[in-house]
Amino acid sequence: MDINIASIKNYEGKSVPIDCAIALEGRPGDDFKIIGPVSVKGLIRNFGGTIELSAKGGAKLEMICDRCAGEFTEDVVFDISESFKENERFERGSENENPDIIYFSGDSIDLDEYVYSNLVVSLPGKHLCRDDCKGLCPMCGADLNNGECGCDTRPIDPRFDILDTI
Ligand SMILES: [Zn+2]
Ligand SMILES: [Zn+2]
Repeated sequence: MDINIASIKNYEGKSVPIDCAIALEGRPGDDFKIIGPVSVKGLIRNFGGTIELSAKGGAKLEMICDRCAGEFTEDVVFDISESFKENERFERGSENENPDIIYFSGDSIDLDEYVYSNLVVSLPGKHLCRDDCKGLCPMCGADLNNGECGCDTRPIDPRFDILDTI
């Protein structure tokens, strides 16, 4: 979604509120699926000539549990924070060059890419359907969240083996 910043980009201290829902496409290789529109609420403002985006994102994701391989959906809330500068004001190689700043030209900024990247970095490395997911039985593959399968999965203590053979 393009946000028009014509009214703020030349006026320090000015801001525009953002309150929208965007249709965000996932990327190949994502280990989650975005269900429905992603909400973005916050502010974009001109702070000393830098355009700063500060917002909260909200999305519904479909994921596969890393422990039990079950599908589940989760509502996630994440911070969106980016700084932009207009291309013309930037001289490459100058001391103002800052890798954290995104350069744009024109009167609008397309937020989709930045909403997506902020969503991805907010996700934990492991997806669990619930914190105490019991996972699958290593012997028969049963989903232990549905109850014990009856397999003996206690670690075998080698000392008992010796007793058995006496
Ligand atoms: Zn699970
Ligand atoms: Zn089992």
